[in-house]
Amino acid sequence: MASTDYIGRFAPSPTGPLHIGSLVAAMASYLDAKVHHGQWLVRIEDIDEARSVPGAAQSILQCLANLGMYWDGEVVWQSERHALYQAAFERINDFTYPCGCSRREIADSRLGTSSDGAAIYPGTCRNGLQAGKAARAFRLRVPDAAHSDETITFEDRWAGLVAQHLASEVGDFVLKRADGFWAYQLAVVVDDAAQGVTHVVRGADLLESTARQIYLQRLLKLSTPQYLHVPVVTNPAGEKLSKQTGAQAIDPGRPEQALIEAANFLGLSIGPAESVDAFWRKATSAWAHRFSDR
Ligand code: GLU
Repeated sequence: MASTDYIGRFAPSPTGPLHIGSLVAAMASYLDAKVHHGQWLVRIEDIDEARSVPGAAQSILQCLANLGMYWDGEVVWQSERHALYQAAFERINDFTYPCGCSRREIADSRLGTSSDGAAIYPGTCRNGLQAGKAARAFRLRVPDAAHSDETITFEDRWAGLVAQHLASEVGDFVLKRADGFWAYQLAVVVDDAAQGVTHVVRGADLLESTARQIYLQRLLKLSTPQYLHVPVVTNPAGEKLSKQTGAQAIDPGRPEQALIEAANFLGLSIGPAESVDAFWRKATSAWAHRFSDR
């Protein structure tokens, strides 16, 4: 019986089939849950309808099952959870404001970009929309200098101590677009809490988002899970592997090969595995050896 002391999750965006990069994140979260005798949930992050590809979610789920990765409980779909995001948004009303700036105007302010590539917001609309402008988005006010939450620090189980100064490294960030689109940062915080997630294991491309998520958890009075960010697989040009950067779908006819490739990337030394079951036995003990005490 899986324990509720540990609830982990894999939260793919259905932008294409599972590939070696997304399998690495799935495998790390799955192994960590197994080693802790916990639950492993799957949540399909399909709130961004423009990026979701029809059929991709089913293909990811089918591929996980084919690789012997069975999730606990029902799959959760973000596209069905707008009411939860709206309720959370209303709870932190006092900290949000409408913003009428275009991407171009923010880029032109030359505050630079945060490490995840987004332009740092200069705070133009903090004290009210400029005359004649309509709201394009709702932003969350990050703490001003001298506020105790100004710098968010956390201990990542892979990367160690991480600190981010929200005001200078991120700026006030978007929670909702005026057309009703929910930002990933809000949806992920609401869902992880609603699903009782205690341990988040995911790709290091999201390390830069974690401080924003912790800040949101604090405002919403939600507990903060443990985090572990695994390195991301890149293509020869150094870009994170994705469908857009040339990732190949996992070959369903050769599951052991994909599993071993992902395990090697994670630094787990596993010799050849004669079956999917044999692979998971070896991989679980290799992960336990490395991570069970962290
Ligand atoms: N949906 C995100 C992705 O596929 C992952 C979100 C998360 O694990 O927090 O990159």
